[in-house]
Amino acid sequence: MRLAVASGKGGTGKTLVATNLAWSLAARRAGVAYVDADVEAPNGHLFFQPDFTWIERHGVPVPTLDGAHCAGCGECASACQFGAIVSGPDAVTVYPDLCHACGVCLRACPEASLREVVRETGTLRRGHVGRMGFVDGTLDPGEARSAPLIQATVALGGEANLAVLDAPPGTSCAAVAAVEDADLVILVCEPTPFGLHDLELSLQMCATLGLEAAAVINRSDLGDSQVRSLLARERVPVLAEVPFDPEIAAACASGMLASAQVPGFASTVEAVADQLLARCGGRQ
Ligand code: SF4
Ligand code: SF4
Repeated sequence: MRLAVASGKGGTGKTLVATNLAWSLAARRAGVAYVDADVEAPNGHLFFQPDFTWIERHGVPVPTLDGAHCAGCGECASACQFGAIVSGPDAVTVYPDLCHACGVCLRACPEASLREVVRETGTLRRGHVGRMGFVDGTLDPGEARSAPLIQATVALGGEANLAVLDAPPGTSCAAVAAVEDADLVILVCEPTPFGLHDLELSLQMCATLGLEAAAVINRSDLGDSQVRSLLARERVPVLAEVPFDPEIAAACASGMLASAQVPGFASTVEAVADQLLARCGGRQ
């Protein structure tokens, strides 16, 4: 079972919900893991300070000529949809940052001149916090393509019975890579015009991918009611509303789980965990 916690934009409280929800679920059931797939800015480890048991570099395959004979026919360049390989009279130039590691150019080459080499793009880590599993991925600085590392991070977390995925914000390739196989996407949103706009995009993403969605409204006592109207119209259940509370912000800023510091928030998270476990039980 994969629960993806996502949001249309950064700063809505996605990691707040993901970390506290994972912790609450782990207190109730064995086999729970928190999976930080927000690889461009992973910060779940700051709240959990996990004991890491496995760390490995992650890479993607990119083509290289590496001294092989090249007829300069240009078939590889014509086949590449991303402009990542350019052919000259007797050699090719590969632009690794543009390469999507699809392998099409290798199959297109009539001379079998190309082979793949691994280009490292980030780091994967696995560990635990008490009995809760912990996985995260960290993209190397300057690396443009995050999706392969996100998919590897999610796959690593898939070894848990119940994985809570902290997805990247937005609705681009990175967010899609994190949520595409989720059983439920929990959209953290806020009741503001910006929040409404980004929630609309997130709901479109879920609909396009055929994913079930639910919502948590953060800072729910600020703003207006348009977000609630949209969720009602789209028949998206609201799992919880979290009113603005400076103590929650203070706990987060101190690197502490807010549910351990703010009793009202802890009750809210526990209620969400109970709802989700009831759904999981129904699927077993
Ligand atoms: S592997 Fe795919 S994206 Fe990369 S250079 Fe070859 S065809 Fe282009
Ligand atoms: S398809 Fe093969 S032989 Fe032709 S330009 Fe590319 S690498 Fe060279």
